[in-house]
Amino acid sequence: MISIRRTYKNKAPKQLAGTNRTFKAAIRGMSAKDAWQYYKQHEKHYSYNTPETKRIFRNMNFKRCSFCTKVIDDFDTAMTVEHIETKHDHPQKIFQWSNLLCACQTCNTKRSTTPRDRKQYLDPTRIPDLERYFSFLPDGTIHPDNSLPPEEQQKADYMIRLYRLDRKDLECERREFFKNLLESDSFSSFLEKQDPSSQNIIFLSVFTYYRRCRERYGQQGR
Ligand SMILES: [Zn+2]
Repeated sequence: MISIRRTYKNKAPKQLAGTNRTFKAAIRGMSAKDAWQYYKQHEKHYSYNTPETKRIFRNMNFKRCSFCTKVIDDFDTAMTVEHIETKHDHPQKIFQWSNLLCACQTCNTKRSTTPRDRKQYLDPTRIPDLERYFSFLPDGTIHPDNSLPPEEQQKADYMIRLYRLDRKDLECERREFFKNLLESDSFSSFLEKQDPSSQNIIFLSVFTYYRRCRERYGQQGR
């Protein structure tokens, strides 16, 4: 994971804000359970994953998943909307922009409907320097960064488990990406100026970590 700057004011999705108002008016006074039922019955009439939302997420996230930070190929069809507070438990937040993040299908599915632990959850749009929470080994494994205080490491561990950022396929892909980073000469100059929009950086989290290590320990650092 890395920090993401959320789009606000005139650049936030307008259509979504309209849907949010209409939906909240419709469920006013209802219990969460009834509001959820109402949503399920009227799901067709309300949408959060619109072309507008996709467009804004594409720019905001540089076509990446907010959790594994992997580039989402075929963004318009493969990107999913992740609800920080789940739809089921917090139906009043289904269309609330600050509750939405962009995710790849796998990360979204791995968490599924698990409610969030507010004390542990790391919202990438609210935490600056989120990248310092995680470290990556050349074998592709992800770990809470051990330079952090234990309670902060616990949050990193929570996020790793919630979105299964330690899943085998990701480890394998990160290992491959790491290998390319270490071997490629051109990456050395590439590392100098971080360009999060570059789709050559498959995993922005791994790239950022490697770059940080390099700054800390010199060129051979990892
Ligand atoms: Zn992902």
